[in-house]
Amino acid sequence: MKNPSGGGRPGFFGPYGGRFVPETLIEPLRELEAAYDAARRDARFRKELARELATYVGRPTPLTYAGRLSKELGLRVWLKREDLTHTGAHKINNTVGQVLLARRMGKKRVIAETGAGQHGVATAAAAARYGLPCRVYMGTEDMARQAPNVGRMKFLGAEVVAVESGSRTLKDATSEALRAWSAESRETFYVLGSALGPHPYPSMVRDFQSVIGHEARAQILKEAGRLPREIAACVGGGSNAIGIFTAFVKDKGVRLTGVEAGGKGVRTGLHAARFAGGRPGVLHGTYTYLLQDAAGQVLPTHSVSAGLDYPAVGPEHAELRRTGRARYSSATDAEALKAASALGRLEGILPALESSHALAYVMRERRKIGRNALVIVNLSGRGDKDLGTLCP
Ligand SMILES: *Cc1c(COP(=O)(O)O)cnc(C)c1O
Repeated sequence: MKNPSGGGRPGFFGPYGGRFVPETLIEPLRELEAAYDAARRDARFRKELARELATYVGRPTPLTYAGRLSKELGLRVWLKREDLTHTGAHKINNTVGQVLLARRMGKKRVIAETGAGQHGVATAAAAARYGLPCRVYMGTEDMARQAPNVGRMKFLGAEVVAVESGSRTLKDATSEALRAWSAESRETFYVLGSALGPHPYPSMVRDFQSVIGHEARAQILKEAGRLPREIAACVGGGSNAIGIFTAFVKDKGVRLTGVEAGGKGVRTGLHAARFAGGRPGVLHGTYTYLLQDAAGQVLPTHSVSAGLDYPAVGPEHAELRRTGRARYSSATDAEALKAASALGRLEGILPALESSHALAYVMRERRKIGRNALVIVNLSGRGDKDLGTLCP
């Protein structure tokens, strides 16, 4: 293991982040960092990305006032509608950016890991559109519980590789994808799905997702005439949350709240609340909060939503928490299910179970948030994939 920045600042968020990877990945990560730096300074790349976001992804997504829900809660709740993007979740903002970068770098194919399958579907879609073959690593446990997304990936032309190791979920699929990348990095671009992993991924994914917050900030100023009291977003790896938070970080009056998966309750040990139950360590190339036992072995996680079911959190969130700029809470499986039903019943929207965690936090803490306070909930995705759980 080698940390190329020598504990120095590039690629670090305070003490968190970095590039803790085997030697074979150092060069591919340097190449990626240089290529991304050049692309983001290139007006033509930015223009093409903006056009693709507008005409393929469906941006800007609306900011919807949830009138009936607001009345019931005694708040003023606005929903940032990432559920309305192409493929149904914010993941596509990032995969379009990364696959355009892969094409620009002259790579011959892309690979990705996936848990719930949303990132796999979004990568398969972008790969098809930009003409690159796509291979997606997925644990067999996740393939069974997210079968419709396996079908969608195949329909979009991707090869799905079944991962049988470990708990057969996202953590194992990520390890396998990193292993494959180190063997074939000359020709292959690794499309990582959250604000996680070794530098430059956490920063690059944040940049591609920050369109969410830039839109939301302009929209709330136009619609409500001022900034919100609070923004709530669910946190798996943390990409939809960092995507909406970034534009508001300098607005000190706006409270930023990340909501982790409380599973069956943080006290039961069956959860994915890394800040409540974890401590710093290294997983998949980054130093961050991690669910681990006394010996440093990564612990199994549980959440009703596969997209939040991962033992580590993006390193920039660890730093936002350390500095106090953002706060982190959790919602249980039961609270998320209840929040999803409420949104269906009151607003005619079927949210992803992941996004329902953010809504569940707002519902539970409505009195603490403050009477009639202006709140934005990031609705990171739609819940068609979760109907089997919502209506068993
Ligand atoms: C993947 C996913 C998440 C969790 O990922 P983040 O990187 O934390 O955003 C949340 N919501 C939906 C709908 C997802 O598909």
